[in-house]
Amino acid sequence: MVVVHIDMDYFFGACEELRHSELKGKPFVVGTAAEKDKMRGVVQTANYEARKYGIKSGMPTMQAFKLYSELSYFKEDYDYYESISKRIESLLASYHKPIERMSIDEFAIDFGKESYYESELTAKEMKERINKEIGLPCTVGVSYSKTFAKMACDSAKPNGFKVIKEEEIKEFLGNKDVSKLPGIGVKTEARLKEMGISRIGELAAANPLLLIDKFGSFGKEMFELANGIDRSKIVERAETLSIGRESTLEEPTADMQKIDKKLGELSHEVKRELDKKGYVFKSVSVKARYQDFTEAIRNASLTHYSNSEELMLGMAHKLMEKLVGDKEVRKVGVRVSSLSGGIGQRRLA
Ligand SMILES: [Mg+2]
Repeated sequence: MVVVHIDMDYFFGACEELRHSELKGKPFVVGTAAEKDKMRGVVQTANYEARKYGIKSGMPTMQAFKLYSELSYFKEDYDYYESISKRIESLLASYHKPIERMSIDEFAIDFGKESYYESELTAKEMKERINKEIGLPCTVGVSYSKTFAKMACDSAKPNGFKVIKEEEIKEFLGNKDVSKLPGIGVKTEARLKEMGISRIGELAAANPLLLIDKFGSFGKEMFELANGIDRSKIVERAETLSIGRESTLEEPTADMQKIDKKLGELSHEVKRELDKKGYVFKSVSVKARYQDFTEAIRNASLTHYSNSEELMLGMAHKLMEKLVGDKEVRKVGVRVSSLSGGIGQRRLA
């Protein structure tokens, strides 16, 4: 499994820079209070220029102005940040992979069984497109699980790109403070210190029974994380939920008959998953990956919900014909979205 974690850099601040281009390169903060009461609020985000003066998020605005009196100030504007977050999400959704929006400016994307090489190419493209099309900087972490992709990302901020593979995780974690592991707050950190554990490497070497005794199931979880075992899953939101399958062709081809055979298999698998979860679909999309690794996607929507495999395949065929033309493809995918239902979901959860 490969997971790509994308975290926007100083998101609120970067959003403000986007609409106030005169601010570029100048220290400013986004705060909680209205502009006229700014001294009563707290700093939400400080841009990197402001951080150079020691200004940090969570700090009273008054203190920030003491550190740098010429500071520019804006009140936070969630609706605006949310609208940009949605644009980032739909850019990422165009890659047709399961996405979990972890917060307004953080996304975890499931790359499934793709290789690190392929994932890196795509993840770099995502980073670049966010930069070019939305106009914002972000940092990207790639790893074999959700937690470690996020940690890779955190370690590469700002504007970075970091890959951590299974075989590198021990070294990556070893010397880090236990507080860097998600879920370990100040209290747990203090209790671990009492046990003589302050680094993740020490946690990894601790007696798991002792940890379970002290922290219950979380003790087991942190022991596993410290040892590079992460069970956290990517959870898609209902609105962005989709079910898809993709597969590499035996050999690159532009022959629609051969491609249709693959589309048939994929549609069948999608249909089975759909039934298992009790969903019906309204939209179908297909993806083609060409010889040069570029990808193209097409989608179409019905006016009603359906659960027909025939209909799915028929739509997939029509869409794919347009994508293939006379170009050879090496990989194809079928995905349904705009789902409804989900009766089976509860049973499965
Ligand atoms: Mg961020």
